[in-house]
Amino acid sequence: MHNRTRRSRTTALTTLSPLAKEVRKVSAEFLSHNPHSPFLIADLCVGLFESLDAFYDQNPPPCELACGPGCSFCCYNQVRATLPEIVTIVRYIQKTTSEFERQLLSQNIQRHNQRIRGISDLDIPRDLPCVFLKKSRRSIYEVRPFACRAWHALNRSDCLRAFEEKNPLAPVEQYPARRQAALDFVCGLTRALDHVRLPSGDIILPLGIEAVLPFSLDHLEPGWLPLFQIHKPGNFPNTA
Ligand code: SF4
Repeated sequence: MHNRTRRSRTTALTTLSPLAKEVRKVSAEFLSHNPHSPFLIADLCVGLFESLDAFYDQNPPPCELACGPGCSFCCYNQVRATLPEIVTIVRYIQKTTSEFERQLLSQNIQRHNQRIRGISDLDIPRDLPCVFLKKSRRSIYEVRPFACRAWHALNRSDCLRAFEEKNPLAPVEQYPARRQAALDFVCGLTRALDHVRLPSGDIILPLGIEAVLPFSLDHLEPGWLPLFQIHKPGNFPNTA
């Protein structure tokens, strides 16, 4: 998976599809107004999420997806996210939770990160659910990262087998065009970040949230930027 995944994003970065080129153009124009405003970066990311959802609506899969509320086997896969995705999720959390709820979330994230820090993506324990999974429901569904928007299944049994085998490489039959669209959005966005000289790498989701959540988001903290310097594989797992 890792070599394939590195190749898939790296290849996509060098040879942008028409969709990725359009996302890059729109994102670079948007960010050029004030590339160091976390709120503007989050506004862009929300706009891209909505555009991807609209793309999915206009390009429905040939058969019904197996995914539905309450199904969460895939939420035991760790995902990576870029700076705009992390800032967008933190803004959503700060807008939709109380101070007490954020304290509880921070404690849960710190416990989670103690178990994953310094471990390669594939070696992260498979019994660890996403920190945002609450009673099989995704508490940040509205602003979930591109990797979660890309992930889906045509047969839930594929996901159950992957979950029971604790095997992140287990093949899951998917609709490739749906994954490719999300990958094109991320590649266009990261090219735009390069253009405005912002870090275009990614980080494991809870590690990024732990770093950004304590801050007010009125400016980009210098300490965040080194966390997003490197793109590491693992963002878009392989399919059947
Ligand atoms: S990808 Fe699989 S585990 Fe995730 S919601 Fe869809 S069917 Fe359920």
